[in-house]
Amino acid sequence: MLDVTRDIECDVLVVGGGSAGVAAAISAARNGAKTLLVEASPMAGGELISGIALLGMLSARGEWIVGGVARELLQEVEKLGGYIGPVFDYRALHLVCFDPELMKFAVSGLLHRAGVQTMLYTMATGVLADGGKAGGVFVQNKSGRHLVRARVVIDASGDADLVDAAGGRTELGKDGRFFQPPSLIFRMTGVDTPRLLGHVREAPQDFGLAEYAGLGMTREQCAEALYRQGQPKVVLLGEHGLLQRAIASGEMFATSILAVVPVSTARREVSINCTQIGNVNATETRALSAALPTFFEQIQTTMRFLRARVPGFEGAQFSGVASKIGIRETRRIVGDFVLHEDDVLQARKRPDVVAKGGHEIDLFAVSTHRRQTIKDGGSYDLPLAAAIAQGVRNLFVVGRCLSATREAQSSARVMGTCMAMGQAAGTAAALCSADAGWSGDVRDTPIATLQQALRAQGAVLESEA
Ligand SMILES: Cc1cc2nc3c(=O)[nH]c(=O)nc-3n(C[C@H](O)[C@H](O)[C@H](O)COP(=O)(O)OP(=O)(O)OC[C@H]3O[C@@H](n4cnc5c(N)ncnc54)[C@H](O)[C@@H]3O)c2cc1C
Repeated sequence: MLDVTRDIECDVLVVGGGSAGVAAAISAARNGAKTLLVEASPMAGGELISGIALLGMLSARGEWIVGGVARELLQEVEKLGGYIGPVFDYRALHLVCFDPELMKFAVSGLLHRAGVQTMLYTMATGVLADGGKAGGVFVQNKSGRHLVRARVVIDASGDADLVDAAGGRTELGKDGRFFQPPSLIFRMTGVDTPRLLGHVREAPQDFGLAEYAGLGMTREQCAEALYRQGQPKVVLLGEHGLLQRAIASGEMFATSILAVVPVSTARREVSINCTQIGNVNATETRALSAALPTFFEQIQTTMRFLRARVPGFEGAQFSGVASKIGIRETRRIVGDFVLHEDDVLQARKRPDVVAKGGHEIDLFAVSTHRRQTIKDGGSYDLPLAAAIAQGVRNLFVVGRCLSATREAQSSARVMGTCMAMGQAAGTAAALCSADAGWSGDVRDTPIATLQQALRAQGAVLESEA
């Protein structure tokens, strides 16, 4: 199995089929590139199909700041009957909620119709370095070991696997030792939403509400608005209220959040983001594997707590668990442009914008959660250079491992932003590979042409705030 079974050629190779990679592959193929998507799992989608909702699609002010492929994917899921739509948490976040089971069909359908060739069950294992270029990418699956040669490579592995393999510069968590906690998302069905929201209205002090001052609403007013919105979108905080008391009494494990998100109105089903284990280095497969039994125990503890203490959950049943542990943070590339906390918080705009971010600073630890809303609830601009790793010429990096400080990454890691950057890099890769006179360096992407193509394909590059 060590010898290369066969060589594969394409214009654009995308490694990793999460939100960023899916958007990149669809965009590259639609813009004329022969595109191959290599994904380690049996299905594309990554965290898009884990049960969480899309963040970063709307700013805190409620303005849509991501369009293009991300919006199309939502339309696709709507056609399948799995779209709930934007839901406000009455803290500061607009989430776009959908059914993750139907999202599996939507992702697969859109990839197929765009003409993306997919290679599932396949792991990218190394890079053939060729004078500052990824001359090829080694991939391994049951059929053998292959060398994929592409004019442009997009690393959407979430962990910057290819940049790391190519010897490019990356940073790992905080000082290589501290990481935002991973979490395993699970789902419960049969939730009594009116009862749940009625309880939030009676005991608003126990829940996360009214955190964005720009809202100009009291906690009580937010609870009332949440009730009228009618969706089971509620948050309990480890540092406050009911969840804090449960942790203090030993009824719950240490965690900074318990977030309930609607996934299916028909099934009265929600996803729950609550499990957390501190400082797991998710690039160490052994550490990640060892975490699973603890996550499973935490899920059972959470269900006991919800049924006993949170009205609306008394009759709720376990209905499923994400197929893999969700990772918030591993490697980040050191790129030509590094996104900083100030760029995010000051809603900084740039003439070379190719994507927009609008999620707050959102830095988790097991016992704390640092959150800070962007100035005026607005959005910031991302340049293509945030997707270009120093030291490699023909490669883009998109997704949660983009070039950012740890604090800025805590904003840009959300899936709306990942998809917007994925679309930008995929389109740029197609432009480069189609140009016979291209230098071979992604830094020579014609930015004005790219911006024009992105706008024509529904991307949002402008916004007022
Ligand atoms: C618990 C949790 C809750 C979150 N909540 C939200 C939320 O509510 N809303 C939101 O928008 N974001 C949320 N996020 C953040 C968001 O989910 C991720 O940051 C985002 O999905 C990252 O997208 P990605 O495409 O970079 O990576 P992923 O979605 O992780 O996709 C990476 C893909 O690459 C594949 N892969 C990895 N390595 C290789 C390899 N070597 N070869 C082949 N394939 C490979 C993986 O199998 C995977 O499918 C949350 C994250 C976590 C962990």
